[in-house]
Amino acid sequence: MDGNFNENDISHVVAADKAHVWHHLIQHKPFETNDPRIIIEGKGMRVWDQKGKEHLDAVSGGVWTVNVGYGRESIAKAVYDQLIKLNYFAGSAGSIPGALFSEKLISKMPGMTRVYYTNSGSEANEKAFKMVRQIAHKRYGGKKHKILYRDRDYHGTTIGALSAGGQLERNAQYGPFAPGFVSVPHCMEYRAQWDLTGEAYGKRAADAIEEVILREGPDTVGAICLEPVTAGGGVITPPPGYWERVQEICKKYDVLLHIDEVVCGVGRTGTWFGYQQYGVKPDMVTMAKGVASGYAAIACLVTTEEVFDMFKDDASDPLNYFRDISTFGGCTAGPAAALENMRIIEDENLLDNCTAMGTYMLDQLHALKDKHAVIGDVRGKGLFLGAELVSDRDSREPMDEKRVQAVVGDCNAQGVIIGATNRSVPGFNNTLCFSPALIATRDDIDEIITSVDKALTKVFG
Ligand code: PMP
Repeated sequence: MDGNFNENDISHVVAADKAHVWHHLIQHKPFETNDPRIIIEGKGMRVWDQKGKEHLDAVSGGVWTVNVGYGRESIAKAVYDQLIKLNYFAGSAGSIPGALFSEKLISKMPGMTRVYYTNSGSEANEKAFKMVRQIAHKRYGGKKHKILYRDRDYHGTTIGALSAGGQLERNAQYGPFAPGFVSVPHCMEYRAQWDLTGEAYGKRAADAIEEVILREGPDTVGAICLEPVTAGGGVITPPPGYWERVQEICKKYDVLLHIDEVVCGVGRTGTWFGYQQYGVKPDMVTMAKGVASGYAAIACLVTTEEVFDMFKDDASDPLNYFRDISTFGGCTAGPAAALENMRIIEDENLLDNCTAMGTYMLDQLHALKDKHAVIGDVRGKGLFLGAELVSDRDSREPMDEKRVQAVVGDCNAQGVIIGATNRSVPGFNNTLCFSPALIATRDDIDEIITSVDKALTKVFG
């Protein structure tokens, strides 16, 4: 830490936080006796808290976001230069960074042509759902309006996005939900619903989507929204053959394929986008977290020209443009940061590093699985990895959440921040999750693995 904060300042910050901040994702009662953690500073892979303690961040800012690491002066400078020139203008006008970032992004997404700016992953998904609904009204008399989503997938926190949320425990208490969202089965082989393996399982899991389309009526289904690799639902990598069959089914029934790249997007899996690992051709792609690595709030919905054209083919029709706006879609800091973020990923070959370090880390996690019987399964793509803890390998009974949290807590105490918010089984946060920045080195990975090894030994013996 640079020592700019003295102890009095820090105690004032902690007191102000305790008195006024409503933190995300946490029960506040324990803060009555314990202080919340305040992160003061970050550099590279590391962050420092209010006590000056250094942590190796194995989750890129907690939720898979800081892909290029902390303390990037060139992004700060790009944002500063843009802000003093023009910070904001919204409505129908464009901006220099908005135009240049969209050109750069599209150059990495063959087949896609249009970028719609928004603020958050949830909002980007809402925009996609609205486009599907508008297309249904315009082209199909309102009929083809249903949106399919997959069990275990998550698409955001707003009521529309929660209506497409496949993690029921996250939805509980927030209903009633929006109508017209229909779930399809998950595709997780470790917790398979069919007695099949490998490609046969992958095809069967995708066939289940066709069954839902036929049950609902193909003339009522407008789109399907899927994560390329499911994140919060348990780091679920799709089985072989799955995506090919999904693509065929979408084509056969004229169902738009909306890929939610909020986590996988912009390098996390080792390709620019997760869907590119599987040769998929989407109609709509949403992204948020890694777009500017958290240096500015920016999210986007990217579409093909075919989708875009449906909103411009008749200028005299009042229903024929997308009647939507996002106030902060007019902030120029987002695309300015995002453009520099992409330059860094390219110039530092971070996609290659992500693939190499991801492969190395997956091997290390497999070695941990050989050593610790509580690890039932290890999975992931690139630097987006999970280790599912079970109390019994044969029955695959999920590990009690308190003991999983004890592992996370022990890693934390050792100075390594890992996550365990992944629920491959409804109600269980039993998958340890790792998403270090794409700049991670072998030494960083070794440090993470050593700390998990020690924590597992401590908690389970
Ligand atoms: N989609 C996925 C796959 C996500 O993991 C998330 C957030 N964790 C969202 C959408 C929602 O993004 P945001 O929190 O930016 O609204």
